Amino acid sequence: MNNIILQGIQYDKKSSFQQGPAKAPPLIREALHSDSANMFTENLTDISKLFIEDKGDFRIKEYFDIESTTKKNLGREGKLITLGGDHSITYPIIKAHHEKHPALDILHIDAHGDLYDEFEGDKYSHACPFARIMENGLARKLVQVGIRTLTTHQKEQAEKFNVEVHEMKRLDLSKIQTFKNPLYISLDMDAFDPAFAPGVSHHEPGGLTSRQVIDLIQNVDAEIIGADIVEYNPDKDFHNMTAYLAAKMMKEIMARMVN
Ligand code: MN
Ligand code: MN
Repeated sequence: MNNIILQGIQYDKKSSFQQGPAKAPPLIREALHSDSANMFTENLTDISKLFIEDKGDFRIKEYFDIESTTKKNLGREGKLITLGGDHSITYPIIKAHHEKHPALDILHIDAHGDLYDEFEGDKYSHACPFARIMENGLARKLVQVGIRTLTTHQKEQAEKFNVEVHEMKRLDLSKIQTFKNPLYISLDMDAFDPAFAPGVSHHEPGGLTSRQVIDLIQNVDAEIIGADIVEYNPDKDFHNMTAYLAAKMMKEIMARMVN
């Protein structure tokens, strides 16, 4: 079945620097349905004609409730897209997918590797989700794109977990290989250069253009079974421009889920 399930996870308690992403899901929906743009993707998929089962937004209090909420919403059929929330939500979301997709590849688009063993004493910080995913064997392959904040510790972690890291320095998107397993895409909005996406907690210069990420999504060679769009922080945004970018990415990802 190719139906799409949508959930919003309003949770930002694992943000190390600033909160705000808990407010994001309704604002991304609003941008998607705004009269400022039509509902077609660039490859002429009419999003308004897709069967999208919208489960609504969930205000999560306890971190591990994200897993049970996601499991319930995921059900047996369909492909799930989640609007976050800070990036800590990806670990429980991937855990919720494990039964259905024991062999999963992940395309992680981010300024940061999010591979810390722990951050400020918290193993579930938004700086750690991909360390938890890899050490628990929840992904066969992890490919990171847009990284520009490596530390020696994170570089060691990437090597330990055999992560394919495509840093911004010397970036060549044509080097990203095909994915053999079903693919989950995790898009941290701070992967974009702050010029394109000011509405994030961590402004990290030297990032991806909107065009590069759209091209990456449109051309990735894989069956996309799930995705999240995280770290949009409305408190930092200008004229909702980051909400519109998140909504456009959501459209393009949805189209790839059904085509
Ligand atoms: Mn992140
Ligand atoms: Mn990030």
